[in-house]
Amino acid sequence: MRTLTRSKSIGLFIATVAAAGLVPLAAGTAEAAPVAAVAAAGSCPAAGTVTQWYHSGHDGVDIANNRGTAIYSAGAGTVIVSGTASGYGQWIRIRHDDGTVTEYGHMYERTVSVNQRVNSGQLIAYMGSEGQSTGPHLHFEAHASTSSTRGMDPVPYLSARGVSLPCTPGTGTPSTNFTTWGTSVRVRTEPRLSAGVVRTLTGPTAVYVQCQTRGDSVTAEGYTNDAWSYIPALGGYITNIYIDHPDAWLPGVNQC
Ligand SMILES: [Zn+2]
Repeated sequence: MRTLTRSKSIGLFIATVAAAGLVPLAAGTAEAAPVAAVAAAGSCPAAGTVTQWYHSGHDGVDIANNRGTAIYSAGAGTVIVSGTASGYGQWIRIRHDDGTVTEYGHMYERTVSVNQRVNSGQLIAYMGSEGQSTGPHLHFEAHASTSSTRGMDPVPYLSARGVSLPCTPGTGTPSTNFTTWGTSVRVRTEPRLSAGVVRTLTGPTAVYVQCQTRGDSVTAEGYTNDAWSYIPALGGYITNIYIDHPDAWLPGVNQC
């Protein structure tokens, strides 16, 4: 694939892409599709061994390590609970900016208080074995909202935010690494033009590209490029033509 320096003329972009049949609308008009909230980059909650995964009798994951191991907020948000609770001994809940909630249990010491604003990856507690626990570990839950009564599987929740378990705090934790450009950029379930559209980006969007792969060849803006980026937070792929970088194949990004 040839590498070209990209023009950022949006008008030309729309006209070219529309002509290529990728955007079924008149040049110069924006598609009215709403943009779903993009999950912000997450952080590894704690280093350790996963001793129990999510299952029907366990609403979260257990990450075991030495007493006193640092525990970090899995994302930016506001502390809504920090205190004692039966079973947990001590617990913390954080409401994130996308409305989801993460929950942390069994800590031996907490370092944040209710209504405190925390960043993704901020120290919030130290691992303990308080409450119903047989050894030092973090019990970590993810909830869809403050009103959900059961946790969801934390593995896809964290994965959508760029964190896979087991994880190492502070390393490999992605922040957004690229920005899209153009309008009406389609995010598809597979790196193919025939694949379903999961959402449409109406304008430049900061994204975390987890990996890239070869897929359908796309021609737009004077390029032909078969590289596609997988963006976990968007739940799909976009052609690399819409990633704002002069190289067709993104440097420093693994192949999917
Ligand atoms: Zn547990």
